[in-house]
Amino acid sequence: MSDIRSLAAPRSARLPSVEIDRTALAGNWQRLAALAPGARTGAAVKANGYGLGAPEVARTLYEAGCRDFFVAWAEEGALVRQALTAPDARIMVLQGLDTDAAALCREATLLPVLSTPDDIAIWREAGLGSPPAPAFLQLETGMNRLGLDEADARAAADLVRAGALSVSCVMSHLASADEASEQSRDQRAVFERLSTLFPGVPRSLANSAGVLLGPDFHYDLTRPGIALYGGTCDALEGLRPVATLTASVLQVRTARRGEAAGYGAAAPLRRDTRIATVGLGYADGFLRAGSGAGVATWPGRPAPTAFLANRAVPILGRVSMDLTLLDITDLAEDAVGPGDRAEFYGRNVPIEQVAAAAGTIPYELLTGLGPRVAREWG
Ligand SMILES: *Cc1c(COP(=O)(O)O)cnc(C)c1O
Repeated sequence: MSDIRSLAAPRSARLPSVEIDRTALAGNWQRLAALAPGARTGAAVKANGYGLGAPEVARTLYEAGCRDFFVAWAEEGALVRQALTAPDARIMVLQGLDTDAAALCREATLLPVLSTPDDIAIWREAGLGSPPAPAFLQLETGMNRLGLDEADARAAADLVRAGALSVSCVMSHLASADEASEQSRDQRAVFERLSTLFPGVPRSLANSAGVLLGPDFHYDLTRPGIALYGGTCDALEGLRPVATLTASVLQVRTARRGEAAGYGAAAPLRRDTRIATVGLGYADGFLRAGSGAGVATWPGRPAPTAFLANRAVPILGRVSMDLTLLDITDLAEDAVGPGDRAEFYGRNVPIEQVAAAAGTIPYELLTGLGPRVAREWG
């Protein structure tokens, strides 16, 4: 689908690519599962498996032992279902239920997460039978995003008691689990209280950061996403990078002191500078906000760097649509030539650091990976 191979074959080796370490992905899932031994460990595979390819991500995690997969939309769920035909693979749809989505859920055996009274009504109409088709319920506990508030949760509990609604799990979502925040504790208290309306029903609260908050947050099912994909390797020992983004050097040149490099002449050259021009840009999801020298900066911003010829090298000037410049003056004269691959994040450059340099989070870098970037599974 999102692969330039469908546009041009054979594919040039110089196009950007993201190498996906299948062993690291499976290992990260197992690491999180080991942290919550009393719970099932699921996986968020929405947004095309955080940009890496949902079908392949889902297959890899199923083999690792995962049985619970979360997508945002029913259409995403139907794609994952094609990859996971085993009946013990549960696929949950987090949002957007309407009659078409409900029909797709029935057809592809997906469980909708019901978050509004409308969702419940739509699912009851589409899913009626005896017993009614199961669904997850989402409770609002303080994020003010999606979920049933207390009155609606009570109404849902009445339906369950009447045998008119079948609930496999009640869940909620933490707003600030990645920050030392009292909000998580408060949300947990609300979740405890509201979930008693559904006695005996399994519960789920934790995303990746929630898993790290400890056993009080694990309940019966966890829903990690970003940690599986190596976006939070600094948060827990044993997590490893999964995605390594690389692109080819297309030209090497020497520019003179006093000249400038790139759009807007944003990078004035204070010395004679050797520049490697690399075929990756913001159209590939390498954000322009992650531009290098000459771009307005802010306190504590990590220096935007790439990795080339076994060294970290500065990104120079503005990232353009299809190209990025690297300052390779400090490398040996013959260290770099056309066709060499530069890494923009992954094994050698932490994605957390690249995200911080662009004023964003690893989630946005991964899910923004463009269609020209080949997903190469290793
Ligand atoms: C995206 C999402 C997750 C996974 O979150 P991470 O922070 O990536 O671990 C879990 N639950 C819900 C409801 C989500 O929307």
